[in-house]
Amino acid sequence: MTDLLIRGGLLVDGTGSPARTADVAVSGGRVEAVGDLTGRAAARVVEARGRVVCPGFVDVHSHSDLALLSNPPAHSKIRQGVTTEVLGNCGLGVLPLTPETDTAALRAAVAFIDADPAVEWSWRSLADYRAVLAGARPSVNTASLVGHLPLRAAVVGFADRPATPAEVTRMCGLLAEALDEGAAGLSTGLIYAPACYADEAELIALAGVVAAYGRVFSWHLRDYTDRLLESVGQAVRVAEASGCRTQISHLAAVGRRNWGGVAEALRLIEAADADVHADVYPYLAGSANLSQLLPGWAHDGGEAAMRLRLRDPLVRDRIRAEWAGRWWEWADVVVDGSPLASDDHAMDLVAEHGNSVAMVASGRSEDDLLAALTHPATVIGSDGLALDPAGPTGRGTPHPRSYGCYPRLLHRYVGPGRLTLEQAVRKCTAGPAELFGLAGRGLIRPGAAADLLLLDLEKIEDLSTFTHPHRYPAGIDLVVVNGTVVIHDGVHTGARPGRDLRVPTEVTT
Ligand SMILES: [Zn+2]
Repeated sequence: MTDLLIRGGLLVDGTGSPARTADVAVSGGRVEAVGDLTGRAAARVVEARGRVVCPGFVDVHSHSDLALLSNPPAHSKIRQGVTTEVLGNCGLGVLPLTPETDTAALRAAVAFIDADPAVEWSWRSLADYRAVLAGARPSVNTASLVGHLPLRAAVVGFADRPATPAEVTRMCGLLAEALDEGAAGLSTGLIYAPACYADEAELIALAGVVAAYGRVFSWHLRDYTDRLLESVGQAVRVAEASGCRTQISHLAAVGRRNWGGVAEALRLIEAADADVHADVYPYLAGSANLSQLLPGWAHDGGEAAMRLRLRDPLVRDRIRAEWAGRWWEWADVVVDGSPLASDDHAMDLVAEHGNSVAMVASGRSEDDLLAALTHPATVIGSDGLALDPAGPTGRGTPHPRSYGCYPRLLHRYVGPGRLTLEQAVRKCTAGPAELFGLAGRGLIRPGAAADLLLLDLEKIEDLSTFTHPHRYPAGIDLVVVNGTVVIHDGVHTGARPGRDLRVPTEVTT
């Protein structure tokens, strides 16, 4: 007998092909049959008439590496329909750690993703971390990128200098070990210390290792503001030199004077003699640690050194001078719900709280966002974390994308002149799964993993806002992960059936 039968829904199967009415049968964690299944007996039947059945969302831009250990039910992600998260983006990973790694300094460097101090870093390799994650039994599936920050921290430390050839070789070796252990690829964050100290030779060497394994290299570019095109150009150049599949993270042009830059960036991506894609989230503001606005040299030696340095008036003068031509206004930079007042206000906050100060920065255009969302080279990634409003990860005022990214896309960006429903779903499911090598995910067809959603398009809406972020969306009625119901009528069942996905995954279809 079939485990679960979803009957009479409008099936949007993830491939981009036209929606059609179909029943979906699930057994043993997989899609068993799709079509007219009248008369089939099932242990559980869900009537889906008038609603959309689609694959669970594959969030290839996640920062839940540590949040899932604090919040394994993955509340803010699973309730927006995310069934698979790719961890370790923007270079902000948690592995590999070596005996030389200054773990406290690394935790400070990746404070943006480290919301619960009670989580212990008890691993060294990806294999160790995967065992810890499997022990936590998250509700969502996971795959992991290797972060450039931990890789560099393990070998070079936190100094503002290029790596020596021997150090590059050692980083390549550690990366290869993690790829052998099933990592989905590598990520860099060229705005974050110590990854920002890497020269292009280091990036090409690391990309070469990723290319040899056929995995993906994700880039938080060096600059999304005045030097966006130059930064896209660097990613394209490294992709062409190494042959590495490349994913540009959260494509956007930030700062009013840079509006229109996304279309130009997309032209560079189209013209690349390499496999280059991008991810995007449907908001007009971003979020990161405030300290990333400081020049790279101010981070030399790690967070503690940076905080000390900021107490020196001469250093502050030098930073003020470098900020003179900046792209942002402090009024557009919000911390804990309030805009910043001045250079000194910003430097005071970083001097006191280091990298843990999160900012929300506006200054993007809707036309740029639409250009990114509707381009065939892009997929959706939330850039968010799995947060629990009732737990340690639920503090403060994080970016609403952690709660509302996918419902917002479907609510606001499906329609004439925007995306068709089928295109939108593909950008959230099979599209990203293919780019990150997650075979058998993001599709509804016999043999695929049974990660499924039931959506009410009349009701679907993100309710999380910049002022009240900790709110779940409406219209996600059912979420199934590996054949197990996790969200039913909008309520978490407590089930935690997520699996850790090794890349390459065994092909199941
Ligand atoms: Zn990110």
